[in-house]
Amino acid sequence: MATNRTFTMIKPDGVENGHTGAILEKINAAGFRIVAMKKTQMTKNDAETFYAVHNERPFFGELVEFMTRGPIIAAILEKDNAVEDFRTLIGATNPAEAAEGTIRQLYATSMGENAVHGSDSDENAAIEGAFHFSGREIF
Ligand code: GDP
Ligand code: MG
Repeated sequence: MATNRTFTMIKPDGVENGHTGAILEKINAAGFRIVAMKKTQMTKNDAETFYAVHNERPFFGELVEFMTRGPIIAAILEKDNAVEDFRTLIGATNPAEAAEGTIRQLYATSMGENAVHGSDSDENAAIEGAFHFSGREIF
């Protein structure tokens, strides 16, 4: 995957709370092109694998439970400087610390249930995109 791409998920809380449309609107308005997108639900094994880097953290069980409790929207986004610009658009992990107008400030409810995921590096964007999409699903 080219380094001008990032990977995102609208997490189960964002979908449950009816924020899918508004979040996609923000993503479009910020100049990201959606090159792949689907609604899916992660299994326990999917979530444990996707978040393996956090498996020693005290919140890991809660995170896996949360991420598997309902459908998500998974997407690959394209834009210059995609990873960094998308992290700016979503805001800090804790919505209480997220900047005004960011997706998490607007739509997240807690540190755990924070509405969206955004890859933290080009390398992880490629790994995470490939986790959810095959080559023929990316346009
Ligand atoms: P991110 O890169 O901003 O998503 O944050 P991290 O990589 O640090 O954490 C991954 C995800 O784990 C976060 O987006 C949250 O959903 C969840 N998480 C992080 N810290 C906590 C926490 O202290 N408690 C709970 N319940 N979940 C957390
Ligand atoms: Mg992270």
